[in-house]
Amino acid sequence: MYGEDLVEVGGEEWRVWNPHRSKLAAAILGGLDPMPIAEGSTVLYLGASTGTTVSHVSDIVGPRGRVFAVEHASRVARELLDRVAAHRPNVTPVLQDARSPREYFSVYGKADVVYSDIAQPDQTGIALANCRAHLRAEGWLMLVIKARSIDVAREPAAVIAGEVARIEGGFDVVQSMGLEPYDRDHAFVLARARAGRISGGP
Ligand code: SAM
Repeated sequence: MYGEDLVEVGGEEWRVWNPHRSKLAAAILGGLDPMPIAEGSTVLYLGASTGTTVSHVSDIVGPRGRVFAVEHASRVARELLDRVAAHRPNVTPVLQDARSPREYFSVYGKADVVYSDIAQPDQTGIALANCRAHLRAEGWLMLVIKARSIDVAREPAAVIAGEVARIEGGFDVVQSMGLEPYDRDHAFVLARARAGRISGGP
């Protein structure tokens, strides 16, 4: 999909998943537990870009699962369509702004997981708005936080703690980790929605 190596194990072909290219791979190597994306999952993926991580999520959920891949930048969305969605029936590209989650109401029902990787100042609020619109009760939020996109001046740890506190209104935060040594810029948060209304965000 993106020049990754292929290896053959026991007569099966496997793709190398590069943690320097994919924050989800870095989080798994960092001890992500549990990993809520599984065979058959429905995943709403915000910030699909050219589809590097989306392609791996598509492999994991398999033919019974589905990935709704939201991307608003037309240049990268073109690559997402050509390189990933055109070859993978379980990937549905959604060329929309993630700030308007009601614009892409789905007939497939609620998502098991909302995965968000958008480097925007209001990234946590956007993720929470998507959870309110599309996440099932007791579903999972996987949130990549880029502290410098939120506030360049404040200490990143303080920025991340503030974002985690916003999530805690409606979620149990199960893990919050840095992604070193693969990525110095981001934190990765795994949280499970509590029953009832999800609060926080715009
Ligand atoms: N998740 C990708 C991966 O691992 O392969 C990388 C994502 S990249 C850091 C962030 C992406 O979010 C960019 O492609 C950007 O265009 C997209 N993005 C930012 N704000 C957005 C928004 N409001 N709606 C939809 N996509 C957005």
